[in-house]
Amino acid sequence: MNTSNNLKSYLAVVIIATASTVTGCASAPPTSSPYRAERHSAGGVRIESIRLAPTSKGFQVSGSVGRMVGYDNSPRRHLDVETLAPDGSVLARVATTFNPNPIRRSRFSRTSSSYAVTLPEAPPTGSVIRVSVHAASRSDCQH
Ligand SMILES: [Zn+2]
Repeated sequence: MNTSNNLKSYLAVVIIATASTVTGCASAPPTSSPYRAERHSAGGVRIESIRLAPTSKGFQVSGSVGRMVGYDNSPRRHLDVETLAPDGSVLARVATTFNPNPIRRSRFSRTSSSYAVTLPEAPPTGSVIRVSVHAASRSDCQH
């Protein structure tokens, strides 16, 4: 007899997910961004989005990650965020975790976790911002 209640909450989740997707698109930075973003998914974790935003504290790189086939719920995953100058040299390299970790599973909707790091300064125009999944614990990362 709970069937109708379950269906209602399922529909609510779908509507919320759709609304946030639409908002995300509307607030996306213009395509004339001075940077190029690169995603390197691995270990069953997919980089879904990369957002770049200058803030009062520095240059923020944020976004979301989702599950791929093969994800085994291991918490031993983190992200390496790198900025590369136009000539290919590494300007900055920061390791960060995503939250929640492991990425939640839902039967009814796509779930994702979010991440955010703030670099001390904005990289020069033409730089590449690279977000890579690193299949190891954050504490095992040398970065
Ligand atoms: Zn790492």
